[in-house]
Amino acid sequence: MSFDWSIKNLPKQIFINNEYVASKSSKTLTLNNPADGSLIADDVALAGEQDVDAAVAGAEKAFPVWKKLGATERRNIMFKFAELIEKYTQEIAELSRVSLGAPFKAFGAFEIGLCAEAFKYNAGYIDKFGGESWPQEDGFLKIVRNEPLGVTAGIVPWNGPVGTIGLKAAPALATGNCFILKPSEKTPFSSLALGTLIKEAGFPPGVFQILSGDGSTGALLASHMRIRKVSFTGSITTGKKIQEMAAKSNLKRVTLELGGKSPAVVFDDCNLENAIMWTANAITANTGQVCFAASRVYVQEGIYDKFIEGYKEAMRNKAKEVGDPEKEGTNIGPLVDEAQFNRVQGFIERGQKSGATIAVGGQRIGDKGFYLEPTVFTDVDINSEIHCEEIFGPVSVVKSFKTEEEILKLSNDTNFGLMAGVFTQDINKALRVASEFESGMVGINCVSLMFLVAPFGGSKESGLGRECGIHALRAFTEPKTIMINMNY
Ligand code: NAD
Repeated sequence: MSFDWSIKNLPKQIFINNEYVASKSSKTLTLNNPADGSLIADDVALAGEQDVDAAVAGAEKAFPVWKKLGATERRNIMFKFAELIEKYTQEIAELSRVSLGAPFKAFGAFEIGLCAEAFKYNAGYIDKFGGESWPQEDGFLKIVRNEPLGVTAGIVPWNGPVGTIGLKAAPALATGNCFILKPSEKTPFSSLALGTLIKEAGFPPGVFQILSGDGSTGALLASHMRIRKVSFTGSITTGKKIQEMAAKSNLKRVTLELGGKSPAVVFDDCNLENAIMWTANAITANTGQVCFAASRVYVQEGIYDKFIEGYKEAMRNKAKEVGDPEKEGTNIGPLVDEAQFNRVQGFIERGQKSGATIAVGGQRIGDKGFYLEPTVFTDVDINSEIHCEEIFGPVSVVKSFKTEEEILKLSNDTNFGLMAGVFTQDINKALRVASEFESGMVGINCVSLMFLVAPFGGSKESGLGRECGIHALRAFTEPKTIMINMNY
């Protein structure tokens, strides 16, 4: 099997037991290109119940072999897979871009690199995650083994279609689980293409499988009686349904990476240029379709006027970077599809009606494709929809504040809790505010960023559990305590 997938030769079949096969379901997915609205394909497999059962059966068969494979051998397969991803980065990115619209240099290269790195990072952990033992002074030696869960599944969104695979599949496979991937119905091609690389890397059949489909496929996985864990990234609404399905079926383990409405708090004593650069990048990267984007920007009143001038200028400059994702120099592509475009435009219209002012942007760019100007609202009512809800587009709200106490209260007055940022040159204030934020992640003089080595995830309704670092391995294993009677 050679990797010859391209937009002229799209992968459209599901990948079960190391083979591309037709779905048993007659339903299909239809995809359009967000750059111009044109039809890409209307015959992409939508996996149904029989397909899910076939993948689970394949995974169950493969599990005993995979979990007992020597650490070095498992590591080498994962390394080879990472190298293959790197080798075909351009091709994989193109398969995402055709339906996502994210430019290669500004986003595709980053998220595919993240996936490859995640496989290397987790592969490196295989022989370093050996469990614990506790001494026998009391007559019993205690050994704690980190055991894999069995058949696991990952349900991923469209906004980081390949990066999120690395965050889920790599720790699952490193710890000896089998893994079934369900990509978003909006971005199935780059995921499906990985089947070729899975086989070439040497994963045994059934260990790593791919089922394209929509929410109905995801629901089959989340409620399956023989799948032991679902790791999900997506909206809060879907995340809650998944947890409910998991509980109602077999109490499978669940990790949830959900939405955000992340605050960036900019104090009078910050480095202004740095604060503007980070906050403008945060809300425009991947066209604002980023879970941890800083979408609420709070600026202390002493520098408010200066900040807003600089931020507006930065956003006007970002508007110049919006364009055809296939063109050199484009850093910001269209929104993913018409539905998302209409959703974001709806927020902008209702925001204006609520009395907020559009300080910059707000308009569609061109009349073809789903391009939107980076948009900033000021004079925002703190109870309005644009201040409280996740928009998931290049739209931020900016508000001024007086005191640290006041702004911490407003920052935390939300059910989201994914990311927060604080900009100040006073280290005591920075650490004080960082510890008071109710969020899974905090940036000091930076915001909306992540690292493979450190826990990634949200508090409150932004998530459950953590990805990255050793936390991801723990999330895919169960500790088993073995007690040995030393006096026997
Ligand atoms: P979504 O919830 O609509 O879909 C995500 C995935 O869930 C898709 O694969 C979809 O097919 C599947 N799905 C839909 N309904 C389902 C159901 N009933 N049962 C099982 N699976 C189902 O989210 P989206 O629109 O693809 O992604 C955008 C959202 O994801 C935003 O809210 C964003 O903040 C969030 N997100 C979070 C993170 C994070 O790490 N915290 C990262 C990226 C995106």
